[in-house]
Amino acid sequence: MKHIAVYPGTFDPVTNGHIDICERAVRLFDEVVLAVAVDTGKQTFFDLQTRLQLANEVFADMPGVIVEPFEGLLVDFAKRRGAQLILRGLRAVSDFEYEFQLAGMNRSLNSEIETMFLTPAEQYAFLSSSLVREVAMLGGDISRFVHPLVAAALMERKPS
Ligand code: ADP
Repeated sequence: MKHIAVYPGTFDPVTNGHIDICERAVRLFDEVVLAVAVDTGKQTFFDLQTRLQLANEVFADMPGVIVEPFEGLLVDFAKRRGAQLILRGLRAVSDFEYEFQLAGMNRSLNSEIETMFLTPAEQYAFLSSSLVREVAMLGGDISRFVHPLVAAALMERKPS
């Protein structure tokens, strides 16, 4: 049996924290499906196509990671994709409450799909897509936090 994990998120945009989680996950699973949410329930900074394109470029040299869009219920996507589990990143206690609720809801929707959490290296524990966007818009240096292609995309959208 192929061990497949779905790593869902908004990835608006993908950061080094997401990359760190994927580097850990590819050592544990045959395939990691980085599932980019179509329905986010919020206005995103980058449209779906750009979020997918950036993720594809960033993970081009990590063959165990496959980037795909997903729509609808995550547990249904995971099942269709042949995945046994949902992978999420846990940074700090502040992530815990929401992630705990999400894992519980997903389990009640499909008890066969587990949720697993990985923590990133400590230098990424404070990193989020929203903070990176904010720092970039204010002209701060984000090169330590994102892939150069993501930094370039953020700079391109920066109002001059
Ligand atoms: P969402 O809107 O679903 O939270 P994100 O793209 O922000 O989507 O995050 C996707 C997943 O990656 C979530 O589980 C989130 O906790 C995790 N994540 C985000 N940033 C980091 C980071 N710096 N280190 C580890 N995990 C992270």
